[in-house]
Amino acid sequence: MIMLICMVTIACSFIYTIIIALIYFFKKRVNNIETKFYSILMAISLLNLYLELMLCVNVLLKVNIDSLLNIFFNRIFLISLFSWVTVFTIYIIKISFGNCEKIMEKITFEGNLLKKPVLIIFIIYIIIMVFLMSILPIEQYICDTYSYSFGPAVNVLIGICVVSSIVWLLCFIFKTDKTDKKKYYPLWFYLGVFIIGIILREINPGILFNSLNMALAVFLMYFTIENPDMKLILELNKAKEEADRANHAKTDFLSNMSHEIRTPLNAIVGFSQVLLSKDLPNEAKEEVNDIVSASESLIEIVNGVLDISKIEANKLELVSTEYSINKILKELVSLTKARLGIKQLEFKTNFDSNIPPILFGDSTRLKQIILNLLTNSVKYTHEGYIEFKVSAVIKNDICRLIISVEDSGIGIQEDKIEKLFTKFERLDQEKNIAIEWTGLGLTITKKLLDLMGGKISVQSIYEKGSRFTVAIDQKIINKDFDESELTEEDDELTDFDGTNIRILMVDDNRLNLKVASKLLTNYNFNIVEVTSGKECLDLIDKGGSFDLILLDDMMPEITGVETFNLLKQKEGFNTPVVALTANAISGMREEYINLGFDDYLSKPISKDELEKIINKFLNKK
Ligand code: ADP
Repeated sequence: MIMLICMVTIACSFIYTIIIALIYFFKKRVNNIETKFYSILMAISLLNLYLELMLCVNVLLKVNIDSLLNIFFNRIFLISLFSWVTVFTIYIIKISFGNCEKIMEKITFEGNLLKKPVLIIFIIYIIIMVFLMSILPIEQYICDTYSYSFGPAVNVLIGICVVSSIVWLLCFIFKTDKTDKKKYYPLWFYLGVFIIGIILREINPGILFNSLNMALAVFLMYFTIENPDMKLILELNKAKEEADRANHAKTDFLSNMSHEIRTPLNAIVGFSQVLLSKDLPNEAKEEVNDIVSASESLIEIVNGVLDISKIEANKLELVSTEYSINKILKELVSLTKARLGIKQLEFKTNFDSNIPPILFGDSTRLKQIILNLLTNSVKYTHEGYIEFKVSAVIKNDICRLIISVEDSGIGIQEDKIEKLFTKFERLDQEKNIAIEWTGLGLTITKKLLDLMGGKISVQSIYEKGSRFTVAIDQKIINKDFDESELTEEDDELTDFDGTNIRILMVDDNRLNLKVASKLLTNYNFNIVEVTSGKECLDLIDKGGSFDLILLDDMMPEITGVETFNLLKQKEGFNTPVVALTANAISGMREEYINLGFDDYLSKPISKDELEKIINKFLNKK
């Protein structure tokens, strides 16, 4: 009777385990060392159930118990149970000490096996045990109601089970991987069931609980710690965390790198600009000009990389302000004209007269987007024209700017157009070999437009020309506009005498200080240089009075921003302070102005920018 109940239960478990195994093996799952061990456990469990079922069938069919086949089944069954216990032990060790590289090095199967003494001892142990279970005597007892095996070979297995359960217990107690304590709950439960199984066998060996007990572990694990869906989710989360961490590291690296590159670049640009203003032989002047333009390209590349990494890290915030669109267009036209250089191209502009003068939006980004398109046109057009058109469609208080940049340049092959907005993608490599590039411009343009809710489209005929069209909505501000603002920044800084003007420059890098003061030599300013925030504060404390302070931000000990905040706390302090920084990610200017600085200069300091600042803060004196 007991025998029949056990047999039905084993048969049911066998079918159930097959179903679980099928689902498990056909499902998409994580493939790591733990899941590999779990798959092996599942397969051995199936074998156990099958062998135990066969032994029961033998008894029912009254097969001669001393027949070779029956003895063979008995011994194979013992060895199969032993394999299950052994694999389960390795699995437990792996999940308990998996984070201890050194331990795992010694016992897992990766690498050169012969160099792992623990592994060799383990293999010898398995060979001895299998050998003992194969040769020691084994007998089978059969009565009307039940049957079981006994003898020295069976005792070896019982001994192994007792020792293994102690090993599991020790693993649970001394585990080093404490990240997820919950995963041990089903294992603790199973340990209890396993020990009950051993005791049960001592009480009544006729209860065939061995393979059932192991199948139970497989079920338990399937629905808890080895659930393939849960494992996938955990694994995905882990991968995402790692990717985020790597991405942060990349962004940090890029911003540090930009700082490091900018300091020497500052010196190159600054000194070559100073050289240009000197009386040089023509050949030398040309070479210095080349240095200036090469370093300007380098700055553009560094800025592009920084922009893209900021966008990808979701760190880019739009800064919307009221701005004059005419002023932006004017600046764009003069920048493009400068970029045309010696190229004999016709540069046509066509701006709608109905564009509202004052708009609200992120003008820095808008300018960056249009400048990218204009620069590309200049780069990829060798003869003919470039046409820069802006029109406006007005609806309520929204103005949709339609900006198009058309050229008669090299054009883009039809099948390449969709690749245009892919990072580092460069089309027509051979043809463009002589053109400086990063393949970032259009990617940045597209990402910025996505952020700003704009659209970009491209029409192009290969070898004839291209037209890039951008549509973007900006809010209209109904306000009178002072046209004179348009010309304000263009004031020339000629014959400016700074004899009575005191400027304090604070930068931890002496080379930067030297560059800035060289750029200002012509104006006879009274320049004081210090190399730390502390020195700057001390000077002001001692009553030093200045007309302008140029303050570097990234300094050791006290940063520029901290120094600035301390300066502002001083009574009666109202000197204009301009932030100097090598961190030139676009949009920085607004950040510094928001912090309370009067203005911002990015390194490498350009002569023009520096003169604009002088004009703005000192020309009235
Ligand atoms: P970069 O100009 O630095 O290579 P972009 O992202 O701005 O990077 O442009 C990607 C590619 O698209 C360019 O390498 C060029 O092949 C093509 N391209 C962009 N603008 C034009 C244009 N006006 N005419 C022809 N090809 C262009």
